[in-house]
Amino acid sequence: MATLPVPETRPMLTLPGDPVRQILWRFADRFDLQMLVASSRGVARGTVARLVAAGERNTHEWTPAKNQMLQAFDQAGITAAFMEPAEGGFIVGPKNLALSLAAFELAWVDGGAATASLAGFLALAPIHERGTPQQVQRYKSLSAPPAPGEDRTPWRGAFALTEPIPYVGVDTGMLSGKVRVAEWNDGSEPWLQVDKRGRFITGIAFADFVTAAVVSDDDRIKGSCVVILEKSDEGTFDRGTPTKKLVHQLSSTGDPVFNLKVPASRIVGGYTVEGGVIVPNFNHGEIIEAVFRRTRVPVGLMTAAKLLSAVEPVIRYQRQRFRGAEGAKPGSIRYEQGIQQREDALHRLVDVWATGEAAASLGFAAARLFDALDPLEKQKNAILKERGIEGPRAEVKALRETEQHAVEMLSLAGDHPRFAERRTELLADPLIHFVLADAEANVLCPATKLWNTGHGANMLREAVSLMGGYGITEDCPGFLANKWMDAQLEATYEGPEAVQRRQLTVTMTGPVFLALFRVWARDMRRIASAHPGTGACTLASAMNLWLWSINYLKSATDPAGNKLYHGQRQGVTFPLADALCWLLASRAQILDVLELESSGASDSLAAEDLPATVEFLSDLCHTQAAQAAGEASRICAELVFGYNHHPRWDEKEHRRCFLSAEIEELEETMPGISAMALDVLASDGTHPQKAGPCAGCAGSDEFLRLQSKLTTCLTGSRLAKDRAAETVSKVTIPEALDYPAAGPA
Ligand SMILES: Cc1cc2nc3c(=O)[nH]c(=O)nc-3n(C[C@H](O)[C@H](O)[C@H](O)COP(=O)(O)OP(=O)(O)OC[C@H]3O[C@@H](n4cnc5c(N)ncnc54)[C@H](O)[C@@H]3O)c2cc1C
Repeated sequence: MATLPVPETRPMLTLPGDPVRQILWRFADRFDLQMLVASSRGVARGTVARLVAAGERNTHEWTPAKNQMLQAFDQAGITAAFMEPAEGGFIVGPKNLALSLAAFELAWVDGGAATASLAGFLALAPIHERGTPQQVQRYKSLSAPPAPGEDRTPWRGAFALTEPIPYVGVDTGMLSGKVRVAEWNDGSEPWLQVDKRGRFITGIAFADFVTAAVVSDDDRIKGSCVVILEKSDEGTFDRGTPTKKLVHQLSSTGDPVFNLKVPASRIVGGYTVEGGVIVPNFNHGEIIEAVFRRTRVPVGLMTAAKLLSAVEPVIRYQRQRFRGAEGAKPGSIRYEQGIQQREDALHRLVDVWATGEAAASLGFAAARLFDALDPLEKQKNAILKERGIEGPRAEVKALRETEQHAVEMLSLAGDHPRFAERRTELLADPLIHFVLADAEANVLCPATKLWNTGHGANMLREAVSLMGGYGITEDCPGFLANKWMDAQLEATYEGPEAVQRRQLTVTMTGPVFLALFRVWARDMRRIASAHPGTGACTLASAMNLWLWSINYLKSATDPAGNKLYHGQRQGVTFPLADALCWLLASRAQILDVLELESSGASDSLAAEDLPATVEFLSDLCHTQAAQAAGEASRICAELVFGYNHHPRWDEKEHRRCFLSAEIEELEETMPGISAMALDVLASDGTHPQKAGPCAGCAGSDEFLRLQSKLTTCLTGSRLAKDRAAETVSKVTIPEALDYPAAGPA
């Protein structure tokens, strides 16, 4: 078993700064992204922080002051980050990481501000993902901020899927919004009548256009689609009343009503006419899937930002808590350390910090993956089109063989030259790269949204609690109570946790993902031998336990003979999805720290305090890995054992069985042990039979072996937490927060 090396470095001096973050999250070579981070930070800690401090969150109305924030986004280049250079943007290539970084910076101060910027992108996303070239050109260039010298107010958009109860919410298929043919003269383009009510629609107070999901109410239109509505279209464009939100008040939300006549060219992605029927090229489900796949990642990163943003204000509060009191003179422990004298206060802050690091690592890994996936997806589409394969079903069928190749490729681990040759051969197929990235993205996206926001909200409560009563006041430095409440919205919109768990239920059991996960588990074991201080050992064991459990549960049944792993059986599938997310977040965190360790030395700024920073971040990894392993172990044990009836075992027989294993081990490890000693142990009278385990132990051996390995691999995790706590009590922080806490701007 790995033992933790005794640290030789002194504790980390300051909080990890930008050079460290750029390496961890892999944008050290992207000057464009570094500039975007700097300008987003300026808006967040300037305009946005002043709005919050001035009490702008206390009204549901869209105020002129809130509107200024949108202009600040435009001026800082945040709005243009979504656009291609030809549309008024400045970032070339995929923009998932860019948008995630901007959202992260804004959410560091206020989640609503981040949402206000993201919602505009969400409105454009259906057009960006599936729109016709004309639609893309029109709406993206109208939404781009004016170029220097141009006198134009940029358009803003809103995305309208959710409808008043009892229609669309988690279940996106239950559409009540309708589309009919309004006019269709021979040879000319049809006109549509769109009747849509929205619920909780972000950005509606100022939207110039809306992308709305509707279903056909006319025999001359097939299925469903997303249509683009403009505020000047003929009919009703009623923005509705503002939602009385308790959270994210810097974004606008309301329940609009639309009844508008629009040309059929507003159907996102276009349409064909077949036998006198308008057939949209994409139904609303296909468009929503393409959109949410990417947009959910920045939301997860918003909660990560808030967790990390809590660290500095909590440290400051803890240290300064007793200053000024009698008996707390400068130099005294009470003056210098304040609440940080107390182990629990430090340990809990370490937990918040470790969660924030893991959440950020997971989210940024997902964002980068989507950047890699975007060109692969385009290439895949081109190849399949060339082969005459079109439509989602034909595509799934066509990629099945590639999936088998991907699984084969992943199973050919090891250095045998024959393996390497076959691997190279398989990897020569561009489709295999798409299939691998796609399988991973289909898991990482819902995992980021689910774990970061759901568990993140729980941990923000912890952060709030560390500030005592101050934590639940408006004056709390870092706006922690706002951030805690806001996290609940992040866990809800763009699909609450149930939606993410439902998606994971399907994607995490795909053969390619499982093969990938097996490779990751092996890699983690390898990492453990070189970097035991990261907690990779316990994580690898937990990954193996999860793999064993999912395999077992996929074929196991309950006492009534019903399958355990089944879409309807959310009591099994959902907790397994949760367990996986813990493991994925911990893995991403460890991989980031390894990257820092290997690349940091060549970066003059990051290299400054590198060994100590790596040591500290590794301790956070270890702390997090131990917790992740514990969660996975608890969940898997409950599922593997919990669906059996408690065996009505014979206590005497069970004891004999238990002793049998114990004695067998004794005989093996102590061959010289006397028969008499064995007899004393087997004091039930009869010498144990080696007839296999009794009903109480049956079937559990392998699980218990893996679980016990996991437990013993926890070695050193609490030492790591102690060390991290020690650093937290010593690390230097700035004199004051770099954004206002409360009071008039
Ligand atoms: C401030 C805010 C802004 C928003 N912005 C937008 C926007 O811009 N555009 C837009 O279209 N929508 C928006 N929404 C709507 C948001 O996406 C929905 O609220 C969300 O998807 C959940 O739908 P619902 O509220 O109807 O919950 P419901 O569908 O009623 O679900 C409630 C709960 O029931 C459980 N549940 C439901 N179905 C299942 C299931 N199948 N399996 C297991 N459990 C289940 C879950 O616990 C779920 O959280 C916004 C919401 C808010 C609050």
